[in-house]
Amino acid sequence: MTDRRYRVWADVDLDALTHNLDVVRRRAGAGVRVMLVVKADAYGHGAVVVAQHAVRCGVGALGVGTAAEAFELRRAGLTVPVLVLGTIVDGEASAVMRHDIQIGLHSAREITALQETAERKGLTARVHLNVDTGMGRLGVLPDRAHDLLGRIHSAQNLDLAGVMSHISSPRGALDEAAARQAELFQHVCGKARTAGRLAGWTHIANSAWLFTAPGPHLDTVRPGISAYGVLPGDLPGADELRPVMSMHCQVALVKDLPRGAPVGYGSTWRASRRARIATLSVGYADGVPWALGNRGEVWVRGARAPMIGNVSMDYVTIDVTDVPGVAPGDRVTLFGSAGAPTVEEVARRASTIPYEVTCSVGRRVPRIVRGGEELLVPSTARPHSGAGMGRERGAIERAAPGELATRVGPAAILE
Ligand SMILES: *Cc1c(COP(=O)(O)O)cnc(C)c1O
Repeated sequence: MTDRRYRVWADVDLDALTHNLDVVRRRAGAGVRVMLVVKADAYGHGAVVVAQHAVRCGVGALGVGTAAEAFELRRAGLTVPVLVLGTIVDGEASAVMRHDIQIGLHSAREITALQETAERKGLTARVHLNVDTGMGRLGVLPDRAHDLLGRIHSAQNLDLAGVMSHISSPRGALDEAAARQAELFQHVCGKARTAGRLAGWTHIANSAWLFTAPGPHLDTVRPGISAYGVLPGDLPGADELRPVMSMHCQVALVKDLPRGAPVGYGSTWRASRRARIATLSVGYADGVPWALGNRGEVWVRGARAPMIGNVSMDYVTIDVTDVPGVAPGDRVTLFGSAGAPTVEEVARRASTIPYEVTCSVGRRVPRIVRGGEELLVPSTARPHSGAGMGRERGAIERAAPGELATRVGPAAILE
């Protein structure tokens, strides 16, 4: 599957997404709604393509980080419930209501502001009260929840669509504090139910919780990273998942350097022997963490090769002295396929978290969407013009034209 049309590209495997969503659904339990979190362009995978496929797989709701991300989904024709997990700014409120987008609610001030806008425009705000059980970032403290639920109920133009909380520990239920958060949330929900103030969905489970807690998981779960085939914090269960994204580039140049020759900005690496190095057509502007300089590894010609020197904006250098036959045009995998580092390994080597690795894959990296054909309705499936290329082109064309241009940039020109 060498793809020499691109200096760098990311494969997005929709069949892996199908598989991971099955795993997630089994963990969530029968009858539990899956709200797939597609914030930050679906963690870098492409929000619209991922969301459309997820809906075909039976996902019943989508979670986003910002109002603009919700608008993007609506513009693409997605009609499932969409929740802005965090906050919006006041200026976004009426558009959010007009497009039937649900929003997290975190304070009495927001109730007043939303009610005022909704009444003036003749609209309804559908809100999920966020209860802060220990995240300390958004949401209202548990002892305020009861009062705020009362105010939401008496606000004419506000509709309580759910009650939510968020787990702070990346180790999920393996962390005592997370278990306490879940208990506290159950307690708040129980009290609200007794008082007749509970309505809509109740949800707390992110990926870490879903993969560590026995359940039941209330009526809705909010997985993100696990659906993309990655788990945070070395949690058990990662081997059940398949990576959705793999990132590749080409060897741009191969050259031999004499002993003692420096490589890269700041000359942080020097050849300790006569060395053969390969310069790769990818850099930190494409999303390779700068911190991988002299620390990262890539997969080339069936072997691991170390990154040497500092990562540049457009280039990475690797030492291929011990990998025979490396030549310009060779495909190099940065992460995500057999033999190559996993996203988790890249994160560990760069001292960051796996989320940041896929989120950082840049705008100039075309996403090549593969798989998912069996879930397409026949009228949108295109005949394949040939092996490889045709299949790919058909897959790319599934994205709406405007979406493709903004999402994959350079690829739109090539296609
Ligand atoms: C991002 C996010 C999620 C998904 O978290 P993962 O760890 O990716 O599963 C769930 N809920 C909220 C509120 C979030 O912000």
